[in-house]
Amino acid sequence: MDILISGASVAGPSLALWLQRYGHHVTVVEKAPALRGGGYAVDFRGRVHMETLGRMGLRDSLEARATHMGDIAIVDAAGTQVAALPSAIFSGDLEVLRGISPTCSTRRRGSTCDIASATRSRRSPRTSAAWT
Ligand SMILES: Cc1cc2nc3c(=O)[nH]c(=O)nc-3n(C[C@H](O)[C@H](O)[C@H](O)COP(=O)(O)OP(=O)(O)OC[C@H]3O[C@@H](n4cnc5c(N)ncnc54)[C@H](O)[C@@H]3O)c2cc1C
Repeated sequence: MDILISGASVAGPSLALWLQRYGHHVTVVEKAPALRGGGYAVDFRGRVHMETLGRMGLRDSLEARATHMGDIAIVDAAGTQVAALPSAIFSGDLEVLRGISPTCSTRRRGSTCDIASATRSRRSPRTSAAWT
C-alpha cells in the first residue's frame, strides 16, 4: 500500500519505519524547508521505550547522540547550591535533541522511506532525507 505521512519530525519517520517493515511504501512530507536539525529534547524512559528503540534499530545511534544532561542545580543569589534535581526527572533514561531521531530513522541502513518537502513535492519530490 502507498501511504503518505505528514510531518518528518519524531512520529512521522518512526511510523514510516514500522510501516515499511510490513511492506508498505511510505512517503513522509514535511512543510519545513529542511529537516529540522535541532529543537526540543525528546526523552525515552523505561523498559518499553528502550526495547522499542532496540527493535527499531535506533538505540545505539541515539545513545551515541545522547544529551547526557546533568543534574540541575538550584542556587541562591550568592550562587550557593541549595538543591539539586536529578537529570533522570527531565531526561529519562535517554535524551536526544528532537532533530536527531528522524535523522537516525530516515538514514539508517536499509531504509526505503521517501522523505519529501511538502512545499516542493508537487513539482519535484525529493527522495532524500536531507534536501537542503
Ligand atoms: C518547548 C518544548 C520542550 C519540550 N521538551 C521535551 C523534553 O524535554 N522531552 C520530551 O520527550 N519531549 C519534549 N517536548 C515534546 C516533544 O518535542 C514532542 O513530543 C515531539 O516533538 C512530538 O513529535 P511529533 O513528531 O509528534 O511532532 P513535532 O515534533 O511537532 O513534528 C511535527 C512535524 O510536522 C510538520 N508539519 C506540520 N504540519 C505539516 C503539514 N501540513 N505538512 C507537512 N508537514 C507538517 C512540522 O513542521 C514538524 O516537523 C518538548 C516540546 C516543547 C514545545
